[in-house]
Amino acid sequence: MQVPAPFEYQRVGSVGEAVALLDRLGDTARLVAGGHSLIPMMKLRLANFEYLIDINDLHDELGYVRVEPGLIRIGAMTRHRELLESDELAAAFPVFRDAERVIADPVVRNRGTLGGSLCQADPSEDLSAVCTTLDASCVIQGRDGERVVSMEDFHRGPYETAVGDAEILTEVRFPVRPNGSSAYEKVERRAGDWAVVSAGAAVWLDGDGLIADARVGLAAVGPNTAGIPGIADALRGRRPTEELFGQAGDIAAEACSPVTDRRGSAEYKRHLARELTLRVLRRAVARIDGQEV
Ligand SMILES: Cc1cc2nc3c(=O)[nH]c(=O)nc-3n(C[C@H](O)[C@H](O)[C@H](O)COP(=O)(O)OP(=O)(O)OC[C@H]3O[C@@H](n4cnc5c(N)ncnc54)[C@H](O)[C@@H]3O)c2cc1C
Repeated sequence: MQVPAPFEYQRVGSVGEAVALLDRLGDTARLVAGGHSLIPMMKLRLANFEYLIDINDLHDELGYVRVEPGLIRIGAMTRHRELLESDELAAAFPVFRDAERVIADPVVRNRGTLGGSLCQADPSEDLSAVCTTLDASCVIQGRDGERVVSMEDFHRGPYETAVGDAEILTEVRFPVRPNGSSAYEKVERRAGDWAVVSAGAAVWLDGDGLIADARVGLAAVGPNTAGIPGIADALRGRRPTEELFGQAGDIAAEACSPVTDRRGSAEYKRHLARELTLRVLRRAVARIDGQEV
């Protein structure tokens, strides 16, 4: 049986307490939320820390989905299951429920958190692709107060984020714009597995039915979950058609940088990036008209 190296363990009761402890312990300490990414890495000895600071008691403070005019705020300790079950969230951003249905299994979804998913910064992380798709921004709290970082700036590389040693991600914010919808699709080898490739899309239409804006986020095809700005440029002001979605798929396939691994060849993943981009754009646009495809 794999066991982690010995570590000291402490539970904290507030964000302030977590930050103070992180500040004191420096890079010898790590926060543990759901533990579904960190603990397996410690068991495999891919990560070793002298101290684990358990933030599960912060669920009351940081576990929420708040819908406000023009903005949805989600606390970092909100668990996958809560994201899956939130009807308010699904109404504004169906991409969340689409993604949560295919993330892991109920055991992982009962414990794993939004904050842990983003901070793990695994290039295959589904919620990172969702947040990129929705142009989210991340609220990071440190000793000197809070700062807000865009998703583009949040992920610095595989398993690296903008969160400093003495900081904690507290909230993720999502702008809500009118006349839009979203969708997510994933290809996995077995139910509950990590993505071979997955894609999210969000589309907004103007009063004439033309595309006002569109965003696509891909997972598992590069060092980070990647937004593809070229797609927005190509789609804005155009009428949504199958041909246009195909063009967007071509841009996605061109822009991504998959590698061959045990989940599939780079060529196959590029094919999936194209096909999934087309499908999620089609589905997001259909949903604006109240249809499911
Ligand atoms: C069997 C299995 C299958 C899985 N399948 C999928 C899948 O299909 N798709 C998918 O996307 N994910 C999958 N996951 C990952 C799962 O979604 C994890 O729950 C998630 O990646 C991490 O969330 P967590 O709360 O468990 O984080 P933890 O493991 O507790 O923490 C992960 C990292 O984030 C840091 N951290 C946590 N919270 C904060 C915070 N608020 N501020 C700063 N740093 C923080 C920790 O210090 C640690 O470095 C799977 C996991 C397992 C075990």
